[in-house]
Amino acid sequence: MRRRIFVTYILVVSISLLVTGFMTINVSERHLQDALESKLVTNAQAIKRIVAYEISMNSDQGRFEDLALALSRDIGARVTIIDVDGRVLGDSNLDAKDLENHLERSEVKQALRGDIGKSLRYSTTLRSKMIYVAAPIKIDDSIVGVVRLSLPLSEMNRFTQFFWKAMFYAALVGLAAAGFMSAYLSRKVSNPIQEVALAAGQIAQGNYDMRIHSDGPEEMKLLAEAFNHMAHHLDATIKQLTDRKNKIEVILSSMVDGLIAVDHQCRVTMLNPSAEKIFDFSDKNAKQRHLLELIRNQDLYSAIDDVLKKKHVTIREIRLFAPEEKILLVHTAPMMGDDEWGAVALVRDITELRNLEKVRTEFTANVSHELKTPLTLIAGFVETLMDGAYEDEGTSLRFLGIIQRETLRMTRLIDELLYFSNIESRRNPTVKTPVAVRPTAEKVLNLLQTSIAEKDHQVLVNIPEDIAPVMAEEDGLVQILLNLLDNAVKYTPSGGKINIDVWEEDDYVYIAIEDSGVGIPEEGISRIFERFYRMDKARSGDIPGTGLGLSVVKHLVQTFEGEISVSSKIGQGTRFTIKLPRA
Ligand code: ADP
Repeated sequence: MRRRIFVTYILVVSISLLVTGFMTINVSERHLQDALESKLVTNAQAIKRIVAYEISMNSDQGRFEDLALALSRDIGARVTIIDVDGRVLGDSNLDAKDLENHLERSEVKQALRGDIGKSLRYSTTLRSKMIYVAAPIKIDDSIVGVVRLSLPLSEMNRFTQFFWKAMFYAALVGLAAAGFMSAYLSRKVSNPIQEVALAAGQIAQGNYDMRIHSDGPEEMKLLAEAFNHMAHHLDATIKQLTDRKNKIEVILSSMVDGLIAVDHQCRVTMLNPSAEKIFDFSDKNAKQRHLLELIRNQDLYSAIDDVLKKKHVTIREIRLFAPEEKILLVHTAPMMGDDEWGAVALVRDITELRNLEKVRTEFTANVSHELKTPLTLIAGFVETLMDGAYEDEGTSLRFLGIIQRETLRMTRLIDELLYFSNIESRRNPTVKTPVAVRPTAEKVLNLLQTSIAEKDHQVLVNIPEDIAPVMAEEDGLVQILLNLLDNAVKYTPSGGKINIDVWEEDDYVYIAIEDSGVGIPEEGISRIFERFYRMDKARSGDIPGTGLGLSVVKHLVQTFEGEISVSSKIGQGTRFTIKLPRA
């Protein structure tokens, strides 16, 4: 750009210099020629009388030659004297005899007609461009000859040469000045433009803070202002867009539900991490790939395809079988993208919810069963007693024992249910006191006496007399031991063994309850402390229960700042160990 401005400048200056030079030289040449002509005319007028006199005297050729020479010296021009027939009588520069007839020379012709003849042409005799002026010589009003004066134009050429030389030096100075000027101006014009171009480049590369400080011409200032304004707006808009995009990304990635958006050809346009987690895949190039390529689930595909075709919202429950079984709730809705329709699917993993529902239904059935069995038994025995069995003391006592056991079972169940509702409503804060272990264990064994006797279990109790009390609540410790021992009785076939060992170690009292029962399979060990968890009936036999007992135990132990652990072998037995702080 700078070069173009520079070259244009120089061209303009050169052309104007040339045109001016030509015109000036032309005008000056004409002016010089006019001046020479009028000088010759004046001289011709002045000498024609002298010549007329010589002609009237009929002088000879030699006389005319001398006269021409003398006059030529006086006026500084070539003098030629010609008679009316065109014959040269005398010439200051050449021998008249050698000269041809001049009748056809235009200036001579004009002069013979009585006017002042003028001509500018190349002289073949003198071999140079000459200016000719001829004046008629009259005697008594009749033309007797012509006196012609001529000057070579070489003088004028000298002037022209001098002029051109002067012009050349002037042009050099002019061009140098123009060069400096144009360099300065072109920089002044192109620098701000270059600055704008650079700034635009920077913005294109993402440097939106770029601003221009122009102190150039007014137009450039305006351009810079407009540019800065534009950059500011661009910066603000991009920040706004980035901010919005970031927010959307944060929302999408923090969503628990999976989100999948597709275009009208079912190609994925958006996908959040939860969706990848639910469908168990991770693909950085997921976008623009067909949905079925990423998630091979026909139900999901048909749910989305339906929306693309019918363009209305749908809600469906679909099942995944691999890598693990999952139940998903899929909300699909049409979405208007850039000119085209697409669809968005919100996927919620409701497996746990469904499992929980199942557990709760089972729990209700279990609780009802747990309540109904003892009630039926109690009702049956009470009826038998009333029918007359009360008369036999032994039978009465046995029946009352069963009634007591069943009542206890119901009370325990209700206690467990109440225990959880208490935890949830955070009622009754724990008040820990030293609790003696031995009497508590004996009390619990007493409560379970009937069941133990019924199953003919051998119970071995090993509790040192001087064992330290534990920091707990008495009712709590009763519930812990009752649950553990009741489980040991329940899950040990008749004639089994149950050991109760208590010992002290560091600042803790350890209580171990070991049975020789059915045992717990490995996958169950980690879950038995969960609320409502029960081993399936196939494993545990049809033993009644609610799945609450061990979760109550664990919760109580933790409340007393203790720990519980379990080890078990299928078919060989189970050992629960609790560790409670010594009082
Ligand atoms: P419930 O006994 O009412 O089913 P629990 O919470 O007391 O509920 O026990 C949870 C599960 O743990 C039981 O269903 C049973 O399968 C298993 N379990 C508990 N104690 C024993 C044990 N001593 N031997 C074998 N399995 C046991």
